[in-house]
Amino acid sequence: MSPIRLALVGLGKIARDQHLPAIAATEGIELVAVASRNATLDGVAHFATLADLLASGEAIDAVALCTPPQGRHELAALALKAGKHVLLEKPPGATVSELGPLIAAAQATGRTLFATWHSRFAPAVEPARAFLAARDIRSVAIEWKEDVRVWHPGQEWIWEPGGLGVFDPAINALSILTRILPRPVFLTGANLAFPTNRAAPVAAELDMADTAGVPIRAELDFLQTGPQTWDIRVETDAGDLTLSSGGAKLFHDGRPLIDERDAEYAGIYRHFVELIAGGASDVDVTPLALVADAFLLGRRSIVAPFEY
Ligand code: NAP
Repeated sequence: MSPIRLALVGLGKIARDQHLPAIAATEGIELVAVASRNATLDGVAHFATLADLLASGEAIDAVALCTPPQGRHELAALALKAGKHVLLEKPPGATVSELGPLIAAAQATGRTLFATWHSRFAPAVEPARAFLAARDIRSVAIEWKEDVRVWHPGQEWIWEPGGLGVFDPAINALSILTRILPRPVFLTGANLAFPTNRAAPVAAELDMADTAGVPIRAELDFLQTGPQTWDIRVETDAGDLTLSSGGAKLFHDGRPLIDERDAEYAGIYRHFVELIAGGASDVDVTPLALVADAFLLGRRSIVAPFEY
């Protein structure tokens, strides 16, 4: 079968750091075009916008949307209408309600819609899920603390409505949480700290529970300097299971079980190729719904202004 001809939209940090190498390393898919207003890639057809690309008649089968979440719905709807398969970076959109129409459009056109959660492809995630399936879980503690100035330098969109602030990275923890726990999770309370000059939170505390009443606590911070923390600790009847480094490492009672190189985006593109071959879609809005609930239920405090 000839490879899927892919166009990448939004040639920014994550596209360059992860998508380009993962696409190059994945069989069955090839990059044939880029749509980005301010960036080009040597040897690859370039268009300023997705609309220009679609109007040009350039032969593509699929698009990977690597733009910020605000505006992603419009791009995805345009691509599906043109009969293209669509891969969405996380979070899948700026709202939960915009995803229903995209799912319906993918069904109507028989195309694949894949809402990626890259952290679910981290090496510790499936072993943790298997371990927890058979255990009595007592509590879960998430610590997701990183330095926005290091990981999102100059990204103003992240502080705008729909940009999610500290939830931009923390939604990765929620995507892991909702994959590894055997029961559905819901939010019971939240505290959100907004800088005086920003529309998105810089820190948050979340209280959640699963349907068996297991308490789940998350502490999120976007101003962590020094060592960065991306940990989930699950207390069970058979000891503590800890996913650290965003799911690259797994420990059972402090004993290392997994410590593997990051291969999240290779997993994403393999799955995209499989979904297209099988005529299927994969859209799970649960992590985004938890974030939306934190905005609904969260008590807000105002903290010092943030500048890069
Ligand atoms: P970024 O560096 O700002 O890149 C996004 C690109 O999208 C920009 O370079 C820009 O390219 C294009 N774009 C189109 N409309 C835009 C707009 N209104 N504002 C800003 N840029 C716009 O962002 P990123 O870090 O790659 O993040 C993109 C998505 O990937 C986000 O949803 C993020 O959550 C996700 N992600 C990021 C990381 C990370 O570590 N940074 C990790 C995993 C996932 P042109 O100006 O050329 O059009």
